[in-house]
Amino acid sequence: MQKVLYVEDNLLNMALMHHLFKKNLPSVQLLKAETGEQGLEIAEQQLPDLIIMDIGLPGMNGYETLECLQRSAGTCDIPVLAISAFAQLSDLAMARDTGFAGYITKPIQVRVFTETVQELLAGAGRLTRN
Ligand SMILES: [Mg+2]
Repeated sequence: MQKVLYVEDNLLNMALMHHLFKKNLPSVQLLKAETGEQGLEIAEQQLPDLIIMDIGLPGMNGYETLECLQRSAGTCDIPVLAISAFAQLSDLAMARDTGFAGYITKPIQVRVFTETVQELLAGAGRLTRN
């Protein structure tokens, strides 16, 4: 079973994602972390196939967490999809430059989001979506 790790500090967003996966991606296991630090730990232990990363997090933000993932041999090849309400063009550019595999803006469009996750899980590599 493929595993996706979602790093998100907002519990309502986490609950919505849980529901979305149950409904639209039932064959994928969703792992959850509430902070970047916890996300790094779970990523090292579970080696998920994809990580969905909130940008605004307490403690380390999403960019800092991505950098740590990229520095670790165990996790550097896992695609990381950014998800954020910060939807300025400069944010999209920064996300691409930092090495995110894609960038999804909140509120999530369910169909686009689901397709993006499916493509990344199928190994489509870097995507540019919003
Ligand atoms: Mg947040």
